[in-house]
Amino acid sequence: MRLSNLFGKTLRETPSEAENISHQLLLRAGMISQVAAGVYSYLPLGWRALKKVENIIREEMDRIGAQELLMPVLQPLELWQGTGRDLSFGKSLFTLKDRRERRLVLGPTHEEVITQLVRQNVQSHRDLPLLLYQIQTKFRDEPRPRGGLMRVREFTMKDLYSLDADEEGLDKTYKSVIGAYQNIFARSGLSTVMVEADSGAIGGKDSHEFMVIAPSGEDEVIYCSSCKYAANAEKAQDLKGRMNEEEPLPIEEVETPRIKTIDELSGFLNIPKSKTLKAVFYSADEELVFVAIRGDLEVNETKLRNALRCHELRLASEEEVMRAGLFAGSASPLGITGIKRVADDSITTGSNLVAGANKPDTHLKNVNYPRDFDVDLVLDIALAQAGQGCPKCGERLLSTQGIEVGHVFKLGTIFSETLGASYLDRDGKKRPIVMGCYGIGVGRLLAAAIEQNHDEKGIIWPIPIAPYNIYLCALSIESEEVASASERLYEELQEGGFEVLFDDRVESAGVKFNDADLLGIPIRLTMSPRTLKSQAVELKLRWKNQAELVPLEEVSDRLEKNIRGGFTA
Ligand code: ATP
Ligand code: MG
Repeated sequence: MRLSNLFGKTLRETPSEAENISHQLLLRAGMISQVAAGVYSYLPLGWRALKKVENIIREEMDRIGAQELLMPVLQPLELWQGTGRDLSFGKSLFTLKDRRERRLVLGPTHEEVITQLVRQNVQSHRDLPLLLYQIQTKFRDEPRPRGGLMRVREFTMKDLYSLDADEEGLDKTYKSVIGAYQNIFARSGLSTVMVEADSGAIGGKDSHEFMVIAPSGEDEVIYCSSCKYAANAEKAQDLKGRMNEEEPLPIEEVETPRIKTIDELSGFLNIPKSKTLKAVFYSADEELVFVAIRGDLEVNETKLRNALRCHELRLASEEEVMRAGLFAGSASPLGITGIKRVADDSITTGSNLVAGANKPDTHLKNVNYPRDFDVDLVLDIALAQAGQGCPKCGERLLSTQGIEVGHVFKLGTIFSETLGASYLDRDGKKRPIVMGCYGIGVGRLLAAAIEQNHDEKGIIWPIPIAPYNIYLCALSIESEEVASASERLYEELQEGGFEVLFDDRVESAGVKFNDADLLGIPIRLTMSPRTLKSQAVELKLRWKNQAELVPLEEVSDRLEKNIRGGFTA
């Protein structure tokens, strides 16, 4: 490809709307262009890189025996109503009506469609196991599209579905997909960690995410460097620390003028926050819920949503709390009736806590569970915190930011039972198919690769996903000598099967080198009157500072060795 013809301009300035490095660099390199919030065009260079990733994914999917198919984006809403997921996706689901007023969905994922497809096509245990995948556009009306390709409303996902006869089969498949995922990420030049992930209200089944560790990541990963425990903060647990048990004392009222928060309360009474009981009110599908948790802990809303099996969860407003006859700021767990009450299991250890009194400027001392109050549900709904003990080995937990590039999930029989996808076992008995689903965000992977591989000058593409392998940079191309020699080399390299971006523009060396660095093409070959004096070109790897002169007749061999023999960024 000649740079003089390439569609897409590089930008010197960083666009002000760009939030993270990959967003800035993809825009500056002219690889993507925004159409609307969370909607992008891929320009030729970006599109080539995306296709490289897709091909790696395809090869690894095919290697584990998965078959590629293509399911539609357009799906009947009834199918989604059949599993109730129209409600769980809620406002993220794009819906529309056709000319006959039938309601349709733009698929955010394809479990419903694949289950229906399998119901029609699988009859016997002999048809199983099966691995089916596609690389397809998904639509999600994300509340906050951000970060360029990181979180968009229209994106390409590789989604794989596994169909097994039993849990044992699923376990085996799950492991083999994890192996394929590790290959895909490693081959794309990404270093990832696999972490335990939330599996939603379905619960019970394994689910893991593949995280690219990067400061711009939206997910928090809680991990232990001693035993390798690692989990998304949505799912992570810690030891919480058991409190000392004391002899329960009688409840006492204390005056606490203008004290509203746990911080103020612990300061005012000079007690640790862990000696207080925090009351938080949520609205779960528009119903008020009372949540009690030890004062030094925070509520994990994912765990709470799973516990309540609700779709929409938000903090209740002060007004909503007041309307229920409760006093926000000093709400008491005592005597609450008529609304759902949930407690974190942290309140079951320790004693004589300070809690609200349900009236202004007053708190209660020596509140003890279950002596003084009752709740409907006690379970772990706390956010795990770095610094607390690891649930596996007790060492101190650490925390870091990650980008979720892939997700694997043992679904079990939830979809097959709901939508009636079954098979006949060896004894002729009808059984539900045991399913798994596995996704990779292709564009997000591309962005994550840039987050992990860049410097202050631009992108540093890992060779396997670079839009082109070689940047042929002809300096002083106005000179007949350079013009004809660079044309010859360009021809030769292309004939040798190399993917070459030929900077044939009449531009200064500074402009060309800057663009070469910004675009991040792994290998730069520079030809100039000076290098031609030695019948050579200068070869520089994007991630190294030094360059070396390579004689023209050896260039192809050298590249062959370097690219196909593989050196990574
Ligand atoms: P997130 O928690 O980031 O919203 P998710 O858990 O909803 O993602 P999945 O349903 O697990 O996403 O989708 C599989 C993969 O698709 C994710 O691991 C991610 O790589 C990608 N993905 C999901 N949502 C988006 C999005 N809005 N933009 C780009 N990629 C996405
Ligand atoms: Mg996910």
